[in-house]
Amino acid sequence: MHKVSCAVIAISLAVGNASLAAQTAEKTAAPKVVALRCGSLFDGHGDTLRKNAFLIIEGNKIKDIAASAPAGADVIDLSHETCLPGLIDTHTHILLQGDVTAADYDAQLLKQSPEYRSILATVNARRALEYGFTSIRDLETEGAGYADTDVKKAINNGVIPGPRMQVATRALDVTGAYPLQGYAPDVTVPHGVQLVDGPDNARQAVREQISHGADWIKVYSDRSYRVREDGILDDIPTFTMDELRAIVDEAHRERHKVASHAMALNGVHNSVEAGVDTIEHGNYIADTDLKAMAARGIFYVPTIFVGEYVAQGRAAEGAPVWVKMIQIHEDTFRRAMKAGVKIAFGTDAGGFDWKINPAREFSSMVKFGMTPAQAIRSATVTAAELLGAQDSLGTIEPGKVADIVAVPGDPLADVTTMEKVDFVMKAGVVYRKP
Ligand SMILES: [Zn+2]
Repeated sequence: MHKVSCAVIAISLAVGNASLAAQTAEKTAAPKVVALRCGSLFDGHGDTLRKNAFLIIEGNKIKDIAASAPAGADVIDLSHETCLPGLIDTHTHILLQGDVTAADYDAQLLKQSPEYRSILATVNARRALEYGFTSIRDLETEGAGYADTDVKKAINNGVIPGPRMQVATRALDVTGAYPLQGYAPDVTVPHGVQLVDGPDNARQAVREQISHGADWIKVYSDRSYRVREDGILDDIPTFTMDELRAIVDEAHRERHKVASHAMALNGVHNSVEAGVDTIEHGNYIADTDLKAMAARGIFYVPTIFVGEYVAQGRAAEGAPVWVKMIQIHEDTFRRAMKAGVKIAFGTDAGGFDWKINPAREFSSMVKFGMTPAQAIRSATVTAAELLGAQDSLGTIEPGKVADIVAVPGDPLADVTTMEKVDFVMKAGVVYRKP
């Protein structure tokens, strides 16, 4: 029994075509039954852990939660672990290797080809999976074109290991608003987005991106942040309302959703008015906009850790506003919780080095007022809903896809335990084992 499960793991860890092999095996033979013996279980519902549960996995699905393993099942011993639903990071950049300063960012776009960046992205995809993120929403390639659709394809085809992906491809912003900036006028430099001006041009770009595989349309709705005397974080809105409405209308007409980078007053307000589906970062959100977000089901993806991480570097570069923004962010986060806004876990990984475990976001959310259980649900149940995948992902229950992770210890007592994921199963295939 033990030997068989080890063999399965060996195949899975052999990187190459693990999930492809699993899919093929599923078609040709009766589905294999695996039992995960969990010391504790956080199924995504409620605030408590269930003790000594067996998760029965058949093929790529959860078949049952039982008190013992069925005869003939391969048992994987996680009796010293807490099992949880596979984690979901709803804001990543696998084509980026950290950009604390403008120089970090410019160097990647100027000195690395999209092909080289794609190779690095395959490593980041594997890292994400090994950290326990079985699904991610990757929110634009930062100048690497449509490379995210290729990484997604390689994962889906079992060529490389990585999380299930929803991708945003190139993102949209207006002329003069997004890096690379500051070069001589006659020097042509790459940009981290597709530049669009005017509603028709914006609409055409949405059509292009969707035709090339975008699952989401990402817009940058504001830039250039400053704290007003009354403490409100102010910004320059990038798009006109006509442009933003055209983008949202075109995306929704094509049954796609819109993610809006909006960090401050006007960017958030315009995005909410235009009808976007998710607000990214949202360091400052007015109470009236929080109320509208709660009423319309617009998700808030706060990405707290990255703000803390880049603040000192950006302050040293001459932008001390990034330090003040942390305090403003905490106040907004607490008001959002009170207003009943759906808060989904997102990290902006890639904005910081992928060698840093993005699960540090859990501690940031708890520091800002969530319980550990609420923070974990933001990365499971709520994030699955954001992806529109709540029927198949986000909780551990019969019928759902077998995305399961485990940590050594009790994450409800100490949420930093979430940074120690040592078992990862995605769609019934084991990628990591303690
Ligand atoms: Zn981002």
